Amino acid sequence: MRKEFLSFSPPFLTDEEIQAVTAVLKTDWLSSGPKTAEFEKEFAKTVQAKGALALNSCTAALHISLLAEGVGPGDEVITTAMTFCATANVIEHVGAKTVLADIEPETFLIDVKEIEKRITKKTKVIMPVHYAGHACDMDAINKLAQKHGIKVIEDAAHCMPAKIGGKPVGSSDNLTCFSFYATKNMTTGEGGMLTGPQEKLDQARMIALHGMSRGAWKRFEKGGNWRYDVPAPGFKYNMSDIQASIGLVQLKRLPELYERRLAIVNRYDQAFKKSNLVKPLTVKSGYQSSHHLYAIRINLEALKIDRDQFIAELAERNIGTGVHYIPIHMMSYYAKKYGWKPSDFPVAEKVFERLLSIPLCSRMTVQDADDVIAAIEDIGSKFKR
Ligand SMILES: *Cc1c(COP(=O)(O)O)cnc(C)c1O
Repeated sequence: MRKEFLSFSPPFLTDEEIQAVTAVLKTDWLSSGPKTAEFEKEFAKTVQAKGALALNSCTAALHISLLAEGVGPGDEVITTAMTFCATANVIEHVGAKTVLADIEPETFLIDVKEIEKRITKKTKVIMPVHYAGHACDMDAINKLAQKHGIKVIEDAAHCMPAKIGGKPVGSSDNLTCFSFYATKNMTTGEGGMLTGPQEKLDQARMIALHGMSRGAWKRFEKGGNWRYDVPAPGFKYNMSDIQASIGLVQLKRLPELYERRLAIVNRYDQAFKKSNLVKPLTVKSGYQSSHHLYAIRINLEALKIDRDQFIAELAERNIGTGVHYIPIHMMSYYAKKYGWKPSDFPVAEKVFERLLSIPLCSRMTVQDADDVIAAIEDIGSKFKR
């Protein structure tokens, strides 16, 4: 058994990120300024986006996207039952109705047929989530949206780097929301990015900074104009240059970070290929997954213990885990408000009972992965039914 606890997904930072932050701290500009502008430019280049807007979280990006698409009370937004609460919470924040669709059993991605069944005259937006960094079938979803005159906002929190048929997630005409939260594939501690067409981003930029027609950097720099207007009350969602300086280094290191992640994924895939105990996710052909999560379903029929005890046994063997996710309809707010029962989304319910994510991050070594595999095999034999 390993001696030290293996954390589920710690960040992987180097002296280069530390020096980048120090350099910003020595300048006169800490808020959104030149580093943030540079990060937006580099990020847009990386994902072949038309434009990019750096924000203080992906949740902020999702919230602003809904506002930029004009979603409000009386509207309906369709999203997946299998996502982080932030995806649904922002729908509630703008006063719209959350409409959930069930998932595909092998990828945990939103089931396009289930989306179609839920489209009404009030549907304004479809919000697919690229679970674990495997993009949804965007051809099908975009076509469906076009047919019904509705917009698409992509939750790409897991997607660095993810591709569909060679095209990066973030390069489409849909507003697309990325996360740089501490556990994500690349991090700025807290942070997010919104990509999409420039005119929508211009509007989003205003909403993200108090609704002001001109940002501080443009007002306080030499030759800047102090006057601004507030056409509508906005939020305070901008990214700081401190965060952006970390993001620039992480973005540059992304190929290395991704390669290290792939090495761990390959090790797990090999070990679980013929496993009767552990079932990993499927990656469909034509997609490059970012492999943000290594989510597994455990075969409860082969065990005397349930998922929760399986997690406890892993922790006892010094292996950290997560569960991604407790489905939205099982959260008390949503269950109460919409009257949902666990069985209303049967695929998500069944997946959830056996779901956990094992450690996966760029900092891990192959030995760490082997420790996880050994712990799982040990539990499997000890609690065999
Ligand atoms: C992490 C995450 C978010 C929220 O990202 P923040 O940057 O923490 O706001 C939204 N959706 C999904 C699917 C996520 O995993």
